[in-house]
Amino acid sequence: MQIKRFIFNPFQVNAYLLYDETREAILIDAAMMSTQEKQIFAQFIEDKQLILKGLYNTHGHMDHIAGTAWIKHKYMLNPQGHQADNMLVETALQHAKIYGIEMEAPEPVREYIDKGHFIRFGNQELEVRHVPGHSPGGLAFVHHKNKLIFSGDSLFQLSVGRTDLPGGNMEQLIQSIHTEILSLDGKYKVYPGHGSETTIETESKENPYL
Ligand SMILES: [Zn+2]
Ligand SMILES: [Zn+2]
Repeated sequence: MQIKRFIFNPFQVNAYLLYDETREAILIDAAMMSTQEKQIFAQFIEDKQLILKGLYNTHGHMDHIAGTAWIKHKYMLNPQGHQADNMLVETALQHAKIYGIEMEAPEPVREYIDKGHFIRFGNQELEVRHVPGHSPGGLAFVHHKNKLIFSGDSLFQLSVGRTDLPGGNMEQLIQSIHTEILSLDGKYKVYPGHGSETTIETESKENPYL
């Protein structure tokens, strides 16, 4: 499986495009905001002749869902995510305004996923885990075959997500990270919603928040 990381919008969100030899692909976080970012993404899909099969929100914060309506119209895909973040998706435009950002209204989530669900495309499978705390409906996606986890804004390299936004809860976040993420074996690579990749082993040993 190939992983293409795009860094989109003023919040520098990592949007991960996963694809394999079948040319089927999924996108984790449609964070593209500008016309140029949309062009870069579309060009990549075209150059690699990928077939985009799914769009998954790690959570409902506006910087992670800014491009969901564009993806919906361009690729005929509905975003999937956790129901508990609907409130954040619905208020995304207001949050964007607070930061002085003008963005297109995001596509509401109507197809819900939760822990125990499996995402499948091509010859790949990802396990969905619920990691509330940064937001009530935070999700992580685990690719066991290659030992990878996409952690959204729950766990970052040597840091954790902020919990001062609506629905945030520090105690819950730390618990989510311990039970749903650090319980994986140390060799798992972590792909966070912002910043660099890390590993479970590094975070278990060195993350000052845990
Ligand atoms: Zn967030
Ligand atoms: Zn974020």
